[in-house]
Amino acid sequence: MIPLYNFHSHSHHCDGKEHMEEYVKAAIKKKFKALGFSAHSPLPFPNEWSLTPESFRQYVTDARYLIEKYNNQIDLYLGLEIDYIPGHSEDFDGFMKNTPLDYNIGSVHLVRHKDDGRIWFIDGPLEGYIKGVNDIFDGDYRAAVTAFYKQSVKMIETQKPQIIGHIDKVKMHNKQRWFSTGEAWYQELVDETLQAAAKHNCIVEVNTRGLYTGKTDEYFPSLEIIQKCYDLNISMMVNSDAHHPDQLDQHFPEAHELLRKIGFKSLKTPFFEYEI
Ligand SMILES: [Zn+2]
Ligand SMILES: [Zn+2]
Repeated sequence: MIPLYNFHSHSHHCDGKEHMEEYVKAAIKKKFKALGFSAHSPLPFPNEWSLTPESFRQYVTDARYLIEKYNNQIDLYLGLEIDYIPGHSEDFDGFMKNTPLDYNIGSVHLVRHKDDGRIWFIDGPLEGYIKGVNDIFDGDYRAAVTAFYKQSVKMIETQKPQIIGHIDKVKMHNKQRWFSTGEAWYQELVDETLQAAAKHNCIVEVNTRGLYTGKTDEYFPSLEIIQKCYDLNISMMVNSDAHHPDQLDQHFPEAHELLRKIGFKSLKTPFFEYEI
């Protein structure tokens, strides 16, 4: 039987709903083997979604308390979804050692223009996504998307994340409108990113959130990219990026079925491997 787990979850400490303990209770009810907490890492500027230095301390305290309390019922792990923004974010190693963390997910939500340092937020409302491309990249979607993938490659090479979060998040608002993910230049950027992931042994997650929120009609990453991960022998795992306890295992049977069809025999988390 496939073990149930989820290593990508957000509670009220960042932009999720409900206390962490509600996620633990829901996971136990669903007979999960493991649950990882992955709040958004603190950022050096005010925002609506990440931990603050204060809530970070409380998050760590709460996670440790729950790990101890539910020790006999479920394997709980303290992680972070760490934003990588060159010149702004802290090194992943610093978080791993100083907190210390059990694991990390590396994600790019904020794309920094390489010359002038302005930042494009790809994960907020659609208007902000469009305005960012117009203001920062002169309306050049190819340049903006290129900056996203180049930053992802740099994250992989310099931070070596254990798990790469939603590796093609940049497509979310696009819906094939301003650029086509089938174009050669786009696929070349994907290839470069995946080659870095393969080289550094990162796990690429299949993130089901886009589908169950209705923001995309496919997983992060797309079928095409999952196929490329298989061809490159990259380890994959399934996460739901839950922002509510009800979302812990959304679309899991379908995601596993898809991976099996592509040819995956086993999947991998930072702590265990299993056959599917
Ligand atoms: Zn994310
Ligand atoms: Zn997330």
